[in-house]
Amino acid sequence: MTDGCGHAASGRWTVGADGIRPMPWSGGWVDMPAGRLHAVSGAGLVIGRALCLTPVTLLDPRDWRWPGDGDAEWTLCWICLALTAERAA
Ligand SMILES: [Zn+2]
Repeated sequence: MTDGCGHAASGRWTVGADGIRPMPWSGGWVDMPAGRLHAVSGAGLVIGRALCLTPVTLLDPRDWRWPGDGDAEWTLCWICLALTAERAA
């Protein structure tokens, strides 16, 4: 099973969000995720859906990591969290 880029499914997830909203940052505006963060697999990248099948906006994988970037402001989707924990085990 590969993700289409030649990488094996190795527990690396792309992060997606419910949506995007502009937020003030360092004197300008940047697009930041709105709502919860979700984990997206290789197949999910193609169809634009997270593991929990919620339609998501993909975040830059250089800036966002699953599940490490979840916090009080950006909570992790518990369904995706459960699914990735299951697959990592
Ligand atoms: Zn999810």
